[in-house]
Amino acid sequence: MALTITQLLCPSNKYNIKCPYIMAPEYITVHNTYNDASAMSEISYMISNNNQVSYHYAVDDTRAVQGIPLDRNTWHAGDGGSGTGNRKTIAIEICYSKSGGDRFVKAEQNASYLTAALLKERNWGIERVKKHQDWSGKYCPHRTLDMGWQRFLDMVQAELNKSNKVTMIQKEPVKTEVYRVRKSWSDTSSQIGAYTNLDNAKAACKTGYSVFDSQGNIVYTTTSVTHRYSVGQHVSFGTSYPSPTLPCGITYATSGSGHGKITAIIDGQAKYQIDYIKYCNDGDIIGIYTPQTFTTSESVSESATSDSRTKTLAVNAFYKVFAGNKWYSEVKNLEDYAGDNKNPIRAIAIKTDNGSIKYRVHIKNGGWYPYVTGYNLSDTINGYAGDCQNDIDAIEIYFITPEGYKYKKAKYRLAPIGKDYYSWQYDNETTNGQDGYAGSFGTSFGRFQLNIEE
Ligand SMILES: [Zn+2]
Repeated sequence: MALTITQLLCPSNKYNIKCPYIMAPEYITVHNTYNDASAMSEISYMISNNNQVSYHYAVDDTRAVQGIPLDRNTWHAGDGGSGTGNRKTIAIEICYSKSGGDRFVKAEQNASYLTAALLKERNWGIERVKKHQDWSGKYCPHRTLDMGWQRFLDMVQAELNKSNKVTMIQKEPVKTEVYRVRKSWSDTSSQIGAYTNLDNAKAACKTGYSVFDSQGNIVYTTTSVTHRYSVGQHVSFGTSYPSPTLPCGITYATSGSGHGKITAIIDGQAKYQIDYIKYCNDGDIIGIYTPQTFTTSESVSESATSDSRTKTLAVNAFYKVFAGNKWYSEVKNLEDYAGDNKNPIRAIAIKTDNGSIKYRVHIKNGGWYPYVTGYNLSDTINGYAGDCQNDIDAIEIYFITPEGYKYKKAKYRLAPIGKDYYSWQYDNETTNGQDGYAGSFGTSFGRFQLNIEE
């Protein structure tokens, strides 16, 4: 077997974005792209954008494409600016993992071959092969993990065991990708331009045309496609992406669910833009979302009803958190705290035995998820806040006091892992130095407490 490696290297004037540090690699990190783009498209896109997302290789069913020199670091592991994953590993993206099938199987075989070749070149053993999950906990390479991580390692080991001691890699000369704008790949006479810069090709792409890479893959299109949903609809979704395209890396596809309004339909890989930080494909949308209606008795004029708010309501809060890959047992009021103070909290479920509650969480490197009101771990839409995948860095809770009772508030706080609690937050108040929420953007939290008080 031989594997062709095409080099389409990042221009050095983008090193500051894509690969700022000199690296002496110690490991190899395996990813899945979570999309259906070819290796050339994957690397072309990675080089052409200005996101701090990068990787050394993308491998598909026919070849490997290298985008970054192996003596420079890339941003792929989600473990921070000085993380071992980002600073000490060679990153390999395996293509076609979204839909899977034969071409993914072939891409994975090619990736195992490339991995083995890189190990052999360095006299490294199989223990140098890591998965993205090892660095940040993200479930990546998702399809490779679904099919069996040990199975993949066995494929690499089988290549290592082969007696051929030379790495059988052919290196094609460096060449620049050309993007052609045509109605279809086969309709060569429809071509209205050819560009080395993808952005320029996109700008030239009129309605009814697409941008093709040199292999004939569509990398951008304005050809109209049928959409099941339209702008303004409020939909529930199952998987979302922080950007219209989704190379695996620091900003990555978010498994999990939520709901939001469609604000735009865009062409290309992700079809819908949802109103809070997310993009979804057609297949990710579950259906039209029916909003929860809050019975806000408070909306009645307070002065007219304040006299009637004389009784004190007894309220107990119950809550549990998801951390370290499991749901912890329920905590009541301030009898304990939720969390283990070691693993980042990634979802929270809250209920009260009187009155009602609404709450929402903000995820690290992301935005606010919609409010939820339920307490049901099998209801991924309204049963808890968070997605069990991303660290929560803030939470907002509001207690709704029933008519006739003195107002009570949610009093709650978070503690960073291994550290003291931040100040108490009451409901969504912003007076007295409160932020309107507990937490701090960019921080992971290990403990959570809640009480309902006057
Ligand atoms: Zn990954």
